[in-house]
Amino acid sequence: MESITVADLARKMNLKASELIAKLMGMGVMVTINGQIDSDTATILADEYNCTVNVVSLYDETVIETVADRPEDLLPRTPIVTIMGHVDHGKTKTLDAIRSADVVSKEAGGITQHIGAYQVTLPNGQQITFLDTPGHEAFSAMRERGASVTDIVVLVVSGTEGVMPQTREAIRQAQEAKAPIIVAVNKMDLQDASMEKIQQQLAEFELTPESWGGSTIFVPISALTGMGIDLLLESILLQAEVMELKTNPHCAAEGHVIEARIDPGRGIAATVLLSRGTLNVGDAFVAGIYHGKIRAMYNDKGQRIKSATPAQPVEITGFSEGTPKAGDPFQVTKDEAFARQIASKRQELHKMEGAKNIKKVSLANFMESI
Ligand code: GDP
Ligand code: MG
Repeated sequence: MESITVADLARKMNLKASELIAKLMGMGVMVTINGQIDSDTATILADEYNCTVNVVSLYDETVIETVADRPEDLLPRTPIVTIMGHVDHGKTKTLDAIRSADVVSKEAGGITQHIGAYQVTLPNGQQITFLDTPGHEAFSAMRERGASVTDIVVLVVSGTEGVMPQTREAIRQAQEAKAPIIVAVNKMDLQDASMEKIQQQLAEFELTPESWGGSTIFVPISALTGMGIDLLLESILLQAEVMELKTNPHCAAEGHVIEARIDPGRGIAATVLLSRGTLNVGDAFVAGIYHGKIRAMYNDKGQRIKSATPAQPVEITGFSEGTPKAGDPFQVTKDEAFARQIASKRQELHKMEGAKNIKKVSLANFMESI
């Protein structure tokens, strides 16, 4: 239910707040000058003064309209992958092994920045973007904010230990997000590792290999020795090809915040993954409830760049206030004034949502509570 403070309503009606408070009291509503009244009460009250209340959802006012894509605007884009799995099954090691397969970072002297996501370029020039925050919390946090950033989930399962509680949780989350799962059966360098055992266990979750009539890709790997990593990357590209991932790279940029931090030298820095458009230095933007203007951009190799395209991990600076959260929507606006206006409305909405304890106290229960 929409609401307004007595002070704001009085201002809009060109009346003294004390006058409205007295009137409300006459209606059996006890409220202070900063108290909220709902739109129904405001309508009745306004009617007494021959005013009409127009209820506008603040949420609607915080939506930045985007232009729909024409089919000819759509071009293939790089897939975005999240690695999930039970603790100690080898997620971090797998991410490290994949990172070392990147031909571009090898050229750059192997220097990589941890900015929450990284892009791997294969020898044939094809690219894959990985979210660098393995685990379920990051995934859930994104999903909670309605962000479906991930195209494909790589489920790392230890070939010796098999399906464990967090494996099941990861499957549930990926399936809820409708992200296809590629199973990486890890630790295959160990004697007692068994691909067959994992396939049997996962059949229960409708993850069945092609050889058994299913459609799930299983890749035996060893994150320790690097065995199977190339095949895993090829399988990701194969899956991505089937999905025909496309986007418009030429419109105003939009995407999501992957992670944000306060950098001692640069201030607030956020890693952003664009879902469409091209982002340029100088662009005004809104990220969650905050706004800014791109001051500088860096890629996952720590190099300064002037523009970024969809699925390319990029760290941005230039926030005017406040640090956004993982999963927050990111959108470029036509100018800074508009970005500021949207951000301030979102902050207002955010405050109201955070003030669930605001109650309207009627005279009857006001008496009871004394
Ligand atoms: P995470 O908790 O899923 O991120 O797991 P880690 O990547 O931290 O790995 C957990 C442990 O398993 C570490 O001691 C790794 O060295 C070990 N490990 C990871 N991958 C392999 C592998 O392919 N083979 C073997 N033998 N050990 C592995
Ligand atoms: Mg780890």
